[in-house]
Amino acid sequence: MKKLVAVLAAGLSFAAVASVQAQTFPDRNITVVVPFAAGGPTDTVTRLVAEAMSKDLGQQVIVENVGGAGGTLGAGRVADADPDGYTLLLHHIGMATSATLYRKLSYDTLNAFDYIGLVTEVPMTLVARKDLEPTDLKSLVEYAKTNKDTVTVANAGIGAASHLCGMMFMSAIDTSLVTVPYKGTGPAMTDLLGGQVDIMCDQTTNTTSQIKSGKIKAYGVTSKTPVPSLPNLPVLANAGLPNFEVGVWHGLYAPKGTPKATVDTLSNALRAALRDPNVAKRFNDLGTEPSPTSQATPEALRTHLKQQIDLWGPIIKKAGAFAD
Ligand code: ASP
Repeated sequence: MKKLVAVLAAGLSFAAVASVQAQTFPDRNITVVVPFAAGGPTDTVTRLVAEAMSKDLGQQVIVENVGGAGGTLGAGRVADADPDGYTLLLHHIGMATSATLYRKLSYDTLNAFDYIGLVTEVPMTLVARKDLEPTDLKSLVEYAKTNKDTVTVANAGIGAASHLCGMMFMSAIDTSLVTVPYKGTGPAMTDLLGGQVDIMCDQTTNTTSQIKSGKIKAYGVTSKTPVPSLPNLPVLANAGLPNFEVGVWHGLYAPKGTPKATVDTLSNALRAALRDPNVAKRFNDLGTEPSPTSQATPEALRTHLKQQIDLWGPIIKKAGAFAD
């Protein structure tokens, strides 16, 4: 009987704490972990959304970069954080691909998080250092095949979108190139600009301004249709790499066990951020757009993540590309 009373009391006090938290949340700064280095595309998207969410929530939403291991270190950090809504994760398609790519993760991808909503889907671009010889996709493919032992491809580690896209490129041209991992494509871009690495496949949110100013070369986009902010870039799937399509979708997550009312508050703030015309304008300038508000919901993100794990899992298994 005593035990029953203790259990009921614990349950009641937990419910009371959750309801007090729901009424006062947020009463301090919120941290969003970006699982890649500062200055890269995931960081850029997160900072734009965080700034707009801060306005809606009336508290600062701060970005913390936890790069390494293709995004899995940052995701693991958030999976282990207190489920109180004050530590969140903004991750991309790598959340789905890592679930199969890694033999062992410190978290269970589908069950370690609560879902807040989809944020955006960003096309990728195949780019190279400015002085790399080939000027179009056809000559790039020939060049890569001829120089396969020396052509270097930057990526943000196994599980990153740049890794996935780089693997797709190598598989499409049936040639292995030398990969160079970074903690994010922010630092990788610095090396591409400096000529220390040859090629990269990265989100338009990191490459658009460098392409426009002619500081790097670009061979095409991974979307189905041309990207309005880069109208001259060919669609890779139509330019010699059939089916070479990938969209880097991003989602916002909280640790599993976050009170539902807190998740709802965060999800409402995300939708408000995505409706903000300044966010839409900045996203458009960077070659992307905010997810429709119907997709910026917990249900839509959970469904999408599950579908993407189911889509990429067999492809990765077939390629046998696993990491420890
Ligand atoms: N674009 C990177 C990737 O390849 C990550 C980043 O630095 O945002 O996934």
